[in-house]
Amino acid sequence: MIPISKPIIKNEEKKALLKVLESGILAQGNEVKKLEQYFSKICGSKYAIAVNNGTSALHTALHSIGIKKGDEIITTPFTFVATANSVLMVGAKPIFVDIDEKTFNIDPKKIEAKITKKTKAILVVNLYGQPCDYDEILKIAEKNNLLVIEDAAQSIGAIYKNKMSGNLADISCFSFYATKNIMSGEGGMITTNDETYSNKAKLFRHHGQDEKTKYFYADLGYNYRMMDLQAAIAYVQLQRLKSITKKRQLNAQKYNKAFNKINGLITPSCDKNSTHVYHQYTLRITKDYPLTREEFINYLNKNNIQTNIYYPAPLFNFPHLSSNNYKISDFPVTNQMTKEVVSIPVHPSLTSSEVSFITNTIINSSKL
Ligand SMILES: *Cc1c(COP(=O)(O)O)cnc(C)c1O
Repeated sequence: MIPISKPIIKNEEKKALLKVLESGILAQGNEVKKLEQYFSKICGSKYAIAVNNGTSALHTALHSIGIKKGDEIITTPFTFVATANSVLMVGAKPIFVDIDEKTFNIDPKKIEAKITKKTKAILVVNLYGQPCDYDEILKIAEKNNLLVIEDAAQSIGAIYKNKMSGNLADISCFSFYATKNIMSGEGGMITTNDETYSNKAKLFRHHGQDEKTKYFYADLGYNYRMMDLQAAIAYVQLQRLKSITKKRQLNAQKYNKAFNKINGLITPSCDKNSTHVYHQYTLRITKDYPLTREEFINYLNKNNIQTNIYYPAPLFNFPHLSSNNYKISDFPVTNQMTKEVVSIPVHPSLTSSEVSFITNTIINSSKL
């Protein structure tokens, strides 16, 4: 089976891990600091704060910018559940807005209708690795005095108008989960240019303790620290960011070229203002395709190609996120996308013959 994702683990990772093991310091230490410095340099942000996963990065970010019980946070229903769960974790309420069918990201034109007196922030996701329309989103935020949080879990290395993902909003969150473009098994990072947010995040990940004054608790906090073991892996991976991103983009270009003219199959579009880092390469199987999405997936699986649906249902479908009486008619695009999308392998470990095989298999499926 050609897998949909594959973590890259080379000798550099093994050597880096062994060095940490032999140092005797496994938990948060100098490796974490080194990763934070490198990460903020790459993103062009002043501060980077490492945590143990992307979900805790989101929870920490929302706490650090002051989101509290009763606040409303505008976000997308077409994302991994962690995005919206983090809003619940600080006692606030996610308010969902429909997406744009070209980018799969939140539709800025539909945001203002959902702003109320309780709205404090807009939490956007750069889905599949493509930045949102930040010019429009930041304009709306400024006009309505809202903060913007960037869920960059899928967009490490992406660029929007000469700015790196991680430096596109008031605060940004990354994940280094095993399937992400840069991974450490589990791991997360917060970036910001605001010193106050950065200080609050550092306290929050460490039970409210300053790194220097132990057993004095300035605030409620959690144990969200990253291990030096994780940081050492992520640091090695990050050095390959440019080359692995280029490989993903190259694979995507091959697919785009091959599938462009196939009737009923829609290839991902890349907005002219940004680069797409193809965490996922996501096709749409529309009514005009000779196969249904299910038949398409079965055909690929029969040919040993793994696929996945990101995401099969809008988040407001789930009981713990459905409190706002969402009208299905408010989300025509999200609903359609949950029925049409399917992601195919695009990761940098694919050989060119695997890419050709996947391409040919899909071309064959269009002739069934
Ligand atoms: C992976 C992911 C997260 C959560 O990250 P974890 O490290 O798995 O906790 C959050 N948001 C999005 C969009 C993701 O893809």
